[in-house]
Parts: sequence; structure tokens; C-alpha cells
Amino acid sequence: MQTTETKPNVKPIDCSHYINGEYLQSKDGKTFENVNPATEEVLGVVAEGGKEEVDYAVGVARKALKGEWGNMPVRERSAIIRKIGDLILERKEELATLESLDTGKPLWLSKKVDIDRAAYNFHFFADYMTTVGTEAYQQDDIALHYAIRRPVGVVGLINPWNLPLLLMTWKLAPALAAGNTVVMKPSEVTPMTATVLAQICTDAGVPAGVVNMVHGKGETGAAITSHDDVDAIAFTGETITGTAIMKAAAPTIKKLSFELGGKNPNIIFADADIDDVIDTTMRSSFINQGEVCLCGSRIYVERSIYDEFLEKFAARAKELKIGDPFDPETKVGALVSEEHYKKVLSFLEIAKEEGGTFLTGGKIPEGLDKGFFVEPTIITGLGKDSRCVREEIFGPVVTVIPFDTEEEVLEQVNDTNYGLSASLWTSDIKRATRVAAQIEAGMVWINTWFLRDLRTPFGGMKHSGLGREGGAHSFDFYSELTNITIKH
Ligand code: NDP
Repeated sequence: MQTTETKPNVKPIDCSHYINGEYLQSKDGKTFENVNPATEEVLGVVAEGGKEEVDYAVGVARKALKGEWGNMPVRERSAIIRKIGDLILERKEELATLESLDTGKPLWLSKKVDIDRAAYNFHFFADYMTTVGTEAYQQDDIALHYAIRRPVGVVGLINPWNLPLLLMTWKLAPALAAGNTVVMKPSEVTPMTATVLAQICTDAGVPAGVVNMVHGKGETGAAITSHDDVDAIAFTGETITGTAIMKAAAPTIKKLSFELGGKNPNIIFADADIDDVIDTTMRSSFINQGEVCLCGSRIYVERSIYDEFLEKFAARAKELKIGDPFDPETKVGALVSEEHYKKVLSFLEIAKEEGGTFLTGGKIPEGLDKGFFVEPTIITGLGKDSRCVREEIFGPVVTVIPFDTEEEVLEQVNDTNYGLSASLWTSDIKRATRVAAQIEAGMVWINTWFLRDLRTPFGGMKHSGLGREGGAHSFDFYSELTNITIKH
């Protein structure tokens, strides 16, 4: 499938653990294969860590807390964190290529979103950390109370496969900014960019033992989450994994930050700017093959513009070029793994059984039977109890449902266990703010989607998460406060 013009010009890498400033294999030599989802070829091997590797990584992370890192002045630590961002940008071509080989996403997208935003996470927190203060209260003429901030300690960072480097850095940057040491575990299906990131941290001046990484499968993650000497877990992934982590972390009362699954609604009122709506709905439905936790997979459209919306939306979806991630014209790449591909295909079968109509897609694209490709799929005719409307599919698959009143749509929108994000479209600002305040989600966008400012609270309610990340929220998670009282 890949022509010479579109062949990646960076070679895939084998992935070793990174502990105490050096790459190493598992003691028992165990590895597993890493597969390119666009070609089904083996990219290389990945070390599979177990309890022994996790113990070693946690031990050196604990020791490093007390060393140079723990005593480093804020300005110096900030300069190192900024440098990590600079080095990510210097190695952008290499990192973007590895990300596309691992995930199957288009190369242009890896560059524009994954790598640029990963670098910005470090640049943002390098600045932000120099402004962070605490609280002080004068209590009449009785006492002065003030709080001091210290790192939580050793933090486990466990991440999914959809935005591998971006999501890892979204946790690593504030964890380091607040002075912690970490043990990272990237997803088993997307291990390459994190492997490079570990070396970049050392190159930027992070002392050995501060940033450690153990590769592996779910059991490796479980060894981190149940470890006695890990103080906090920052996790992004499926809701069901979050439940398992909560149980594993309970005996040692670890601090937890969870960014979990979503089934996010887009609500489109008839007075919205339809062209703007279509442009953004294309992105919120199909960018990154629909593998973004914030994707709007339930689309509710006011009945008077339902037919016009469907016609324009379907016409645009049919134009999307699917295929080789290294072809600059490609808009939709491959799904991340065979397992996930089968899950998405099974939902297409469910949609058929439930009586849904495929306005577009619903199948594997012609000529792309090698690799894990699925056509952008728009489904109509399904009701609120359909599994395709209720469950997270996490692929290029959306359902569209008409509505008549604000009350009716709000009831459907909130009739879910998830509560991550929503996107709402109307030119009536009063309606926009009224409806936005009633949506049970951690983030609501009005007339836009995925517009981020890293100071704002990011996260979900209900089964979509626990706590918030971003700016002060990240800092609060990655630090502990001690209140000190001086009696006058
Ligand atoms: P998973 O929950 O399957 O995996 C996430 C990470 O957890 C992986 O590194 C995985 O390892 C590890 N893991 C698996 N089992 C355990 C365990 N018992 N203990 C500790 N760690 C474990 O999620 P996916 O990788 O499938 O990612 C997709 C999900 O992520 C979707 O639900 C999506 O909505 C969510 N997500 C949420 C975001 C948000 O901000 N709310 C952002 C992006 C994605 P391994 O890979 O080896 O199985």
C-alpha cells in the first residue's frame, strides 16, 4: 500500500524499559511484538515488564525524590521542563513518524496535534510552575495560617493508545513541575514515542531516577497501581480499567486522577450556522478515526434542519480519503489494533441488528483489506436505548437523532452514565448558556469543539472521570498541602 513517496523516512524502534537513566530489558527477557495497524507488519519488539521491573523503577523513583531533583530551585527545574518541550520540537519529524506507525493516524495529524501539543504541555507548565503560590489567612489577632506545598511523591502515569505522547506529557509535565518522580506505563499497542521521551528527559537535564518507564500489558499497570510505595496514580483509559485501578489502589489509599470514557453529545439547534456546524462536526466525528475521548458520537439535530444537516454531513463524510497514514491526502487512517478494529466492526453489526440505517460507511473500505480500516459511518434510525447510542464505540462511527424541544434533547443528552464533554450549537446566547449549564458533563463547548486553554479544568463527571487536570487543578493533584498555624 505504501508508495515510495509516502514511505516513512524514520525507522521503527524496539522498546526497552527506562529505569534510573538507562534502557534495559526485562530480567526474564520477556518481550511482545508491536504491530503496525495500517499494514499489519511487525514494527519491532517491546520489553514486557513484571513485578520485578516495577519494584526496581519505584525504588529508584523513591530515592530520586530525596536527591538533586527534590532540592532543585524552581527556576532550574522550570528550565529543564522547558528544554524537554524544545527537544520534542527538535525531534518532531521522528516522533510524529513513530506515532503514526504505532497508531495508524495520519502523519500530518501526528505533527499538528500530537507532537506540537506534547511540546506545549512542557512549555505551558514550565511557565505555570513559576507562578504557583498557596494560601495564607490572618485569623483576627489569634493566629496566622499558611499552607506549604510539596510533591505527592512517586506517581504512576498510566496511559491509553489514542494520543500516546500527548496524553503522557499532559501528566508528566505537571508531575515534574510539582517536583514528583514518576513511573510511566504507555499502552502496550503504542510504546514507541514514550520510549524516546524518556531519553529526551535525560537529555534535557532531568536527573537519573526521576523519569522511569516500564513497558508491558495490563498486568504491568496493575503492578504499579497496587504497589505499596506509589503515592498517586494518574490514569487515562477505559472506565472499566478505572474501576480495577480504584480497587487495586484502595488498600494503600493512593491519590487518584482519572480521565475515562465518554459518549459525548453534539446538540445542534436550527438557528446555528450550518456550514460552521458541518465543518466542526466532521472533525468531532472523524478526526483521529474517531479515537478521541472528546469526539461527539451522539449527534442531536433539531427536526427542522435534520434533512439538510444529514445531506450536507453525509456528502462531506463520503469525500474523506481513507488509507495510508503517510499519504498527505489521507484524512482517516487505520484503527489502532486488531482487537479494537473487531470491537468497532461488532458495533456495526449491532447497528444493523437494531434496525439502524447507514447513511455512509458501515463497512471496510474497498481495497483496504490489509490493515485495520473502517469507513466513516453515519447511522440514523436508532433510538435512545440502542447500544450504539449508549456505549462508547471509539471509532469513526456516529449516530444522528432528531429532536423537537430543548427539554426533550436535554433529557436524552443526560440519559447516560458518561459525562465527559458536549458541544452545543445555536446563535441564541441565552439558550446557549441556559442549556450548557444543564448538561451533565465536565466540559461544554458552545459553537466550537476541542478548543483548549491549558489553564481550564479538564475532565469528566459521572463514569467519565475523577478530578480535573489543567493549570491549578493539575498542580493540586500533583502536590500535597501542609497547613501551618502560628499563634500570635
Ligand atoms: P485501557 O483502559 O484499556 O488502557 C489504558 C492503560 O491502562 C493502558 O496502558 C493499559 O495497558 C493499562 N491497563 C489495563 N489494565 C490495567 C489494570 N488492571 N491496571 C492498571 N493499568 C491497566 O484504555 P485504552 O488504551 O483502550 O484507551 C481507550 C479509552 O481511553 C477509551 O475509553 C477513551 O474514552 C479513554 N480516553 C479518555 C480520555 C479522557 O481524557 N477522558 C482521553 C483519551 C482516552 P495495556 O495497553 O497494556 O492494556
